[in-house]
Amino acid sequence: MDIPPLAAHSVAEAHLCLMVVPCKLCGEGRTRYVEGQLDSVEDDVRITLHTRCEHCGFDSEFAFKSPAPRTPPEDGGRSISGPAWINPSSSPSAIIDPVQWVTLARVLGEAVDRQSDPPERRRLGCEARQCFEEALKFYGEDDDIPPADTLFHAQSQRQVRIHPDRYLRTRLIALKSKLPALTESERTPAGEADRPEKWWALW
Ligand SMILES: [Zn+2]
Repeated sequence: MDIPPLAAHSVAEAHLCLMVVPCKLCGEGRTRYVEGQLDSVEDDVRITLHTRCEHCGFDSEFAFKSPAPRTPPEDGGRSISGPAWINPSSSPSAIIDPVQWVTLARVLGEAVDRQSDPPERRRLGCEARQCFEEALKFYGEDDDIPPADTLFHAQSQRQVRIHPDRYLRTRLIALKSKLPALTESERTPAGEADRPEKWWALW
C-alpha cells in the first residue's frame, strides 16, 4: 500500500480503531474485521487488517504500525486470553480521539452486560476502563471537557458541542472507577502479537 501505516500503540488499539472508522466507500457502515496479518519490520509490528463494510459490503484494508511487544517476564506474565493493554505509554492515541474513546467505552460496557462468562465480563470491563483512561489522556490539568484541538473529526467536535456533559472529566473518572483495572502482571504487553483469534472474533 502507498498510504503510510497508522501509528497504533498496540494491536488492540488498531482493532478498536476499526470500530470507530466509517466505511471508506459509503461513509456510513461500520467496518468489520475479516482477517489480519502481523509482520515484524525492524522494531515495529506491521498490522494489516482486512475489513468489510456492514452497510455496503465494501472490502477494504487498513495498515497500522505498532511497537513490537516485549518478551514475557520470567514469572510468566499475563494470561494470553486476558484483557489487552491498549496503550502502555502515557501519550494519547494518534488514531482515536477522546470522543471516540468514550464511544468505545460505552460499546464495551454494553458488551459486558450481554456477556455471562465471568472472565469475558472482566476482560471487556478492563478494556472499557482503559478506553476511559485513554480519553482522559487528552485532557489538560484544567480541562473539564476535551480541548477542541484534540478532536480529530468534525463529528467529534459536534458531539462535544451538543453534549458537553457526556465528556465531563469528572463523569469519565466516575464511570471508570466502576470498572475493573488490569493487574500488575496484565500490564505486560508481552505476547500481544500472538493474541488468539478470539480477540478479533468478538467484533
Ligand atoms: Zn460501506
